[in-house]
Parts: sequence; structure tokens; C-alpha cells
Amino acid sequence: MEDWRRILADSVVKPKDLAERLGVDPKEIEDIVGDYPMRITPTVLATIKEKGDAIWKQVVPDRAELADADAEDDPLEEDLMSPVPHLVHRYPDRVLLMVTNQCPIYCRFCTRKRLVGKPGFLKKGELDRAIAYLREHQEVRDVILSGGDPLLLPDHLLERILKSLRTIPHLEVIRIGTRVPGSLPERITPKLCEIIKKYHPFYMNLHFNHPDELTPEVKRACGMLADAGVPLGAQTVLLKGVNDDPEIMKRLMHQLLLARVKPYYLYQADLTKGTNHFRTSVETGLRIIKALQGHTSGMAVPHFVIDAPGGGGKIPLLPGDYLVNLDEDSAVLRNYENNTYHYPQPGSTHGRELPMVGAHPSWGTTANGCDGGSDHL
Ligand SMILES: *Cc1c(COP(=O)(O)O)cnc(C)c1O
Ligand code: SF4
Repeated sequence: MEDWRRILADSVVKPKDLAERLGVDPKEIEDIVGDYPMRITPTVLATIKEKGDAIWKQVVPDRAELADADAEDDPLEEDLMSPVPHLVHRYPDRVLLMVTNQCPIYCRFCTRKRLVGKPGFLKKGELDRAIAYLREHQEVRDVILSGGDPLLLPDHLLERILKSLRTIPHLEVIRIGTRVPGSLPERITPKLCEIIKKYHPFYMNLHFNHPDELTPEVKRACGMLADAGVPLGAQTVLLKGVNDDPEIMKRLMHQLLLARVKPYYLYQADLTKGTNHFRTSVETGLRIIKALQGHTSGMAVPHFVIDAPGGGGKIPLLPGDYLVNLDEDSAVLRNYENNTYHYPQPGSTHGRELPMVGAHPSWGTTANGCDGGSDHL
């Protein structure tokens, strides 16, 4: 058996193991793990410092999971947008393909709580059907392998999938969404990196929610992937009591950049049944973005999105304060320090010599410069 398999098998899965390791009364959680399985890898277990901390909350079952019985199992309506089993085609040019329902850890807030960790998932022939769908649909130029966690597949199966995807000429980009580097770093082996390298352009989005998750071993695993030429992005879920705080979030974003991972999305929590105790107000996320934008490197600012209930897809949100007014003459803008600036529209009657409210002295010289100037592209 490979090392990482042995380490995964050492995870806390049964309520009585949790009682031994963390002193939780097994009776408290027995009925929860019946519906929603638990798994806590050694790496994650070692990161828990005390009862109820940010890591604990993400992985230790909580009775609140049984409280929102009226909520929906699939609020994003993924199952309705699935032309063939395990494939979600919601956007014009890219699809999500769930290749397993196993994960290194079972996050208590998971959007796919309805299906992760349960027995029986990919049935014989289903993967072939999904690949046949991709082959027929020439508009699809990007496939995201998800689940569950694709990196829990054995190397030979993962390679088989990557190889068949690369026989589809119109498929440009392959991505994987994974929580493995942060929870089972031993899985990132030189052999896995050798396999992945052969299928570029290949991207990975890693799931991280708290700065304490970026241990030296985790950073080393991220570094191995980066050295294999994989551009790494991060997806973070905004979670009450875990990371709903601008200071924690800023530390997380800085730790990610140190691990060579570029923050990509910050998700507002979904309405999934069994996860509603993690939800925060929409203002919380906007406040976090405001605390990052301008105050620290733009590299450290993720897109804050809500995946719209009812299958609307990801919708980006920005604090409303940046664009004060926009008309055919000019844009009135407010920066992170709350100063106001005018940007004249091309061909407007207002010249650059007009006085500006609180303008920066260098305004007008860099607006179109190749350093990006004042535009946010
Ligand atoms: C998030 C998601 C994607 C990918 O979206 P990007 O914005 O391109 O990262 C594709 N399909 C589904 C169903 C998704 O939820
Ligand atoms: S690793 Fe991802 S898919 Fe698996 S339980 Fe966590 S959030 Fe859900």
C-alpha cells in the first residue's frame, strides 16, 4: 500500500475514535455520522488546538447539522443541470465532472453533503458516458474534475481519466478542485507530479479556509505542485466562527501567497441542508473584501461570489462604494482610503485640467500607462 493510503486509513472515522482523540461523547455524534460521514486525517487532527476552534468546527460533527431539516439537499440544482450522470453543465464553455465522492476529510459545511462519503458512486460505464458527452460538445473548452476529491483516486485511474480527456481536441484546459494538499499532503507524491505534468495546461484550485491550515508540510506539498508547473488557485468558503473576520482572512491570503497559491474565489456559504449554522450575512463578505482591497496586494484579493440558489451560477459581489457615479462624462470613484476621484470618459467635454475632488498628484500621468494605471484590469 502507498504511504498516503496508510495515513488516510489512520484517519478518525468512528465516533469512538473521536472520543479517544478529542474527548467528544460518542453518543453526541453517532446519529449525525449516520447521515453525514466523518473523516479527519492525521494532519488535520494535529492542527486542532482546542475544542471548538476554526479547524475543529470544519471537521467535527455538530448537532446543528440535524437542525435545518427543511433546507434543500441541492440548492444549486446541480442534479437538474446534469445531462449525464456526475457531469454538471451550467456555463457555456466549461463543465464540472464529479469523478469520485470520497474526500480526505468530510467538511461539515460541504455543498455536496448529499453525496460525499456515501457508498456507491461512479458506476460502470458512467465515466465513458461523460467523456462521450464532452467529445460531442465542442463548445466545452474547460473541464473541472471535482467530487468528492479527485486526488483520492489511485494514480492509474486519475491518469486514465486525464489521458482520455486529452484525446478530445477542443478541450483546452483541465482543472482539478481539491482539498488534498491541505489535509493529506502525503498524497502529493513525486509520481503524482510526474503524471500531472504530462497534461498541461492543467490548473488546480485548492480548498483552504484558515491560515492554520498552511503548515510547513502543506506548503511543501503546494510547492511540489507549483514546481510541476501547475498554476495553483485557492477557494475559500466564508464560515461563521471559522474565518468571518478580516484579520483572519488577511492572514489566510498572505499564507496562501507564501505557499505559491493565488486566492481565486471566496464563496458565500450555500443554503445546503445541514450547513446553515455556518452562514454569515452578505455584508460580512463585503466587509472582508473592503478590508483587503487596496490595503494589501491585489494578488491577495479573491473574487467574492454567491453561487445563486436555484442554479444561477456564481455571481460576483463588490462593495458598492468604489463607483460613486457613472455617466457619459465621467466616473466618480472612491478609493480604499475613502478619497474621491474623477475619471473623464473618452471624448467628454471635461478635460484633464479640470479640478478633481481630492485627486492624487500623479493622476493623469498613469491613467493609461502600461503599469495598469488606475484601471483594475
Ligand atoms: C464553479 C463552477 C464552474 C467553474 O466556474 P469558473 O468561474 O470558471 O471557475 C463550472 N461549473 C460549475 C457547475 C461550477 O459550479
Ligand atoms: S473536501 Fe470538498 S467535496 Fe469534500 S467534503 Fe470538503 S468541501 Fe465537500
